[in-house]
Amino acid sequence: MERFCCDKFRFRYEAGNGMGFNFRIIKLSQKFIDRGYLGDNRYRYIITEGYTVFDENTKMTVIEYCPYCGGVLASVYNSDNYVNEFNHPF
Ligand SMILES: [Zn+2]
Repeated sequence: MERFCCDKFRFRYEAGNGMGFNFRIIKLSQKFIDRGYLGDNRYRYIITEGYTVFDENTKMTVIEYCPYCGGVLASVYNSDNYVNEFNHPF
């Protein structure tokens, strides 16, 4: 079973993607990496409003720290087991 930084984050992470604000963990595509991304963390942590298709009109923002407990997201959520969606454009 995966580890979570806190229960509040877990609740929002596990909520369906049509249910209000939720957290999503995505992995950057190889295509994006190939365009010159030089960082060492391929995962991104985002807050979005509900959505059904991940398109450019989806309101979202990238976060680095858990808004509930302050944990560094990259230190916990750093494997493919956490990835919610692969159908994103980056
Ligand atoms: Zn947390």
